[in-house]
Order: sequence, then C-alpha cells, then structure tokens
Amino acid sequence: MNIKSYLTSINIDYYTYTPKNELCKKMVLKGLDKNLPCKEILDDLQMQHNLIVDVKQMQTTKRDNETTIKEKIGVFVVYLKREANIDDIINNIKIVLHHVVIWEKFNKRANPATFCGRCSRWGHGASNCNMPLRCLKCGKSHSPEKCDLDKQRPPTCANCKLNHPATYRECPAFKSYIERRKDLIEKNRQKQRQLRTSHSEAPRQRNVPTSIDTAKIRQGISYADVITNEQNFPISNTQDTSNGN
Ligand SMILES: [Zn+2]
Ligand SMILES: [Zn+2]
Ligand SMILES: [Zn+2]
Repeated sequence: MNIKSYLTSINIDYYTYTPKNELCKKMVLKGLDKNLPCKEILDDLQMQHNLIVDVKQMQTTKRDNETTIKEKIGVFVVYLKREANIDDIINNIKIVLHHVVIWEKFNKRANPATFCGRCSRWGHGASNCNMPLRCLKCGKSHSPEKCDLDKQRPPTCANCKLNHPATYRECPAFKSYIERRKDLIEKNRQKQRQLRTSHSEAPRQRNVPTSIDTAKIRQGISYADVITNEQNFPISNTQDTSNGN
C-alpha cells in the first residue's frame, strides 16, 4: 500500500503533488473524429508505442447566460512516460484508427494553474486530494454537481468567501497563489544557482532543507505554504465550513 492509499484508508485529510520525475510528457494529437472513445485511441497508440500511458479528450467551455456548456472537440492530449522520445513518436505514429494524425507540442501556458475540483484549492489536482469536499460554487461540503445554489443567489468562494465561484481568476486567493508560485519558482532558481556554485567550490553538501520548523507543519498545509510563511488561504478544516451559510 502506498502512502496515499494509506492516508485515504485511515481517513486523513491531505493533499499532495505528483513528483516531477513521475509527471508524464504530454503531446497534442489532432486529426481524429471527436466521437472516437479515448480508450480505443489509447489501445491503438499503445499497440504502436509502449511508452504511451493515457489519452484525454479536450473540450471547449462556452457560457450561455448562467449555464456553462462543455463541448468535446477532436483534439486529444496524449500522456507519455518521461523517457519517451517525442521525435520518435511523431515519426512513427502517423495513422491512428485509420485517420492520418497530426502531432503538436502541448502548450503549457494554456493551462497555467491547477485547480482542485474536490476541495476548490489551487495548486494540486483532485487525483492528489483527500481534503474534505468544498463546492466551487457555494463553498459547502458537497461536489459542484450536487450544488443546489439557485440562480438568484450569488455564489460564495470557498477560499475568500466573497461572492464569486472559487475558479474566478480575480479572486484574491487565486492572485495570492499566483504570487506565491512566482516567489517559489524564483527561490528555487536561486537555490539551484547557489547549489551549482557551491558544488564547484565547497565540499559536497546534501541537498536537504534544514530550516523547516516541524511545529509549523500542520495538516492540510503544504511545504510551499510553510516556507512562504503566508496564510492567505483558509486552510484548516475548522475554517473550511465555518462560513455557515
Ligand atoms: Zn484538493
Ligand atoms: Zn454548492
Ligand atoms: Zn475567492
């Protein structure tokens, strides 16, 4: 049993991240009919290449007054194991399910921030989350599909408690997450630069964080939250549902 399944089995609230070395490479696959099931595409791709692990279909989101309409399109994201050679895939897989296909790079900037559909926090995905449910529309503990918020009442953000859905990009919690992420990326860059210089001058040091105050690590708070020393998100369980509406 891995640590995630263990924590889930004993009912601990947590969220985590997929380590970089386990993240898949992604490619965009075009030229296929939008009604083809991902499973069939995956089966065909896996017959042609053994480092392909998953296929997901992309969709567009349109807003029609209050309702959001999602529509599947003939564009698929193909997940590859990290060791896969992208050129090798492009050169060798030209036909999928009798369709001539086009491969394109996956544009990271199209999807800059991960939002958790389970707990409505930014920075991790639902597959890595075992925090209590928080509806992205009203902030209460149910999934968005079960939300009974009627259209006359405004939504309540699970993160900042203001009247917008938790996915709203002008939300102060989202902006603060983006700021913290920028800081963290910059800090990591600096650390790597320092490490490179110290490697060439000083005797080898182990790359372990030394200044974590374990007393500061609380359930539901990530390492990033601890080291940036900011607590702008309502994070603990007691705060999660304290909005009480
Ligand atoms: Zn979550
Ligand atoms: Zn709701
Ligand atoms: Zn908000």
